[in-house]
Amino acid sequence: MINTRALRSIAVFSGSNHGFNPAYVEGARALGREIARRGLRLVYGGTDKGLMGVMADTVLAEGGEAVGIITGLLFELGHLHPQLTHHEVTQDMRSRKTRMSEYADAFIALPGGLGTFEELFEAATLTQLGEHHKGVACLNIAGFFEPVRSLLDHAVKEGFMKTEHRDMLIFDTDPAALIDALERWQAPTVTKWIGSAPAV
Ligand code: AMP
Repeated sequence: MINTRALRSIAVFSGSNHGFNPAYVEGARALGREIARRGLRLVYGGTDKGLMGVMADTVLAEGGEAVGIITGLLFELGHLHPQLTHHEVTQDMRSRKTRMSEYADAFIALPGGLGTFEELFEAATLTQLGEHHKGVACLNIAGFFEPVRSLLDHAVKEGFMKTEHRDMLIFDTDPAALIDALERWQAPTVTKWIGSAPAV
C-alpha cells in the first residue's frame, strides 16, 4: 500500500519576474489551477509581481485560497497583491520564511532567481537535517531546473551529498503529478554525513 500524506497548505516559491519564455507563465497558471482544484491553500510571497502574481491570480480566479506572507519593506513598496484571502507582514525575509514554513505541509518551487533558489534550498536543507519533515518539489517548466539537477548530481559525485538527499527532491513537468508525488513522499532516514574524516 502506498502511504499518502494529507496536504492542506502548499508553500510556493517563485520568481518575482515572468521569465522570457511564455511557458513559465503558462506553467504558473497550471499550478495555480491544480492547487485550487484540489482545495489546497496557497502560501506564497504575497506579491502581485511576476510568476508569483500570475499564480495567485489563477488560484483566486478559480475560487481557491491564497495567503501571502510579505516583508515590511516590500509591503511599503506597494508590492502586496490586493485580493488575497489573507496576508501577513513580517519584519524581514528570515521571519517571512519561518512563517511560510509554519503554514506549509510541503514546498514547490517554480522558475525564479536568487530569492527562489535560496528558499528552495533552505526548505530542502531543513528536511535533510530533520528540522522538519516536508517534501520539496520543483515544477520543471521547460527544463528550467535541469541545471539544478546537474549541480546536485555533481555534489553527489564529489562526495558532498548522499544520493538519498538528491533523490528526495521531486522534479516533474506536470503540476498534478508533482502534487501526487508530494502526497506519497517519505522523508529519507539517512543522516547527512558521509563516512568519517580522512586521516591526516
Ligand atoms: P526571485 O526568484 O529572486 O525573483 O525572488 C523570488 C522570491 O523572493 C519569492 O519566492 C519571494 O519570497 C521573494 N520575493 C522577491 N521579490 C518579491 C516581491 N516583490 N514581493 C514578495 N516577495 C518577493
